[in-house]
Amino acid sequence: MRELSEVETVGVVGAGTMGNGIAQVAAVNGYDVVMRDVEESFVDRGMEAIEDSLSRFVRKDELSQQEADAAVDRVYGTTDLDALSTADLVVEAVIEEMDVKRDVFADLDRVCEEGVVLATNTSTLSITTIAAATDRPELVVGLHFMNPVPVMKGVELVVGEKTDEAVVDTAHEFAESLGKETWEADDKPGFVTNRILMPWINEGVRAYDEGVAAKSDIDRGMTLGTNVPMGPLELADHIGLDVVLDASETLHEELGDRYKPAYLVKRKVDAGDLGKKSGKGFYEYD
Ligand code: NAD
Repeated sequence: MRELSEVETVGVVGAGTMGNGIAQVAAVNGYDVVMRDVEESFVDRGMEAIEDSLSRFVRKDELSQQEADAAVDRVYGTTDLDALSTADLVVEAVIEEMDVKRDVFADLDRVCEEGVVLATNTSTLSITTIAAATDRPELVVGLHFMNPVPVMKGVELVVGEKTDEAVVDTAHEFAESLGKETWEADDKPGFVTNRILMPWINEGVRAYDEGVAAKSDIDRGMTLGTNVPMGPLELADHIGLDVVLDASETLHEELGDRYKPAYLVKRKVDAGDLGKKSGKGFYEYD
């Protein structure tokens, strides 16, 4: 397996919202990047997004113009699949469709050198099923970056059925080398973040649709009332409604009706474990 110390070039598949963000943070942190999409215009749009984002960092004095220029120079945008053969580690960020991801991974398995770790940025799909499209399932891992990648600190690591422990360690190290913090999730639909986030967003949309409140009041209510930075409708827009739909459909298919009160909540209430006020809920308090 290729260790992180041997990684100089990062391959990114997909130059969309997430792909260009991942390419940007990798380049800012000193990696050479090959960013591949299927059409020249998508590659160009990805490069422009990187330049725009970097210029905002320059305006905020968080990066010098020189550093921004150097980062742009380190990203090679292409439609050529074979260009990914120079990558020492690859992160896939194409659309959230299993068939498309499996085709991409079969291609990557063919094109990339032996020992190269192949990561997927999937929001909800099974790492194990994606990995099964390759002859190196032990080298496939979920590296779920958050949107916008240059700003968000967290990266969710998803461990597939066959993922090697050393690959998980390398994935942690890679994310940390980009200035990110990580947590691990098993390969179950939606992992930690989207399993919890998607029902929340859908409930916000339903609340709006059923006339519970105006859009802005739903978003204000959730930001002011629960101390999250963005309400469900604003966040859905930010993620991309197509991405939300794809993710929600996968969760629905895999998990069914998740909207009933959780049984464990009822059991804990009956037991008097009410949370902080009773000294014990899911956690214990002094
Ligand atoms: P996007 O639609 O912005 O970008 C996807 C890109 O992949 C497009 O440019 C498309 O042309 C390209 N593509 C499609 N097939 C390809 C192929 N075979 N080879 C190369 N490129 C190909 O989507 P996105 O929002 O960047 O999402 C990408 C992945 O990241 C999805 O799996 C999504 O679930 C996940 N994700 C998205 C978010 C978010 O907030 N948008 C957050 C976390 C994870």
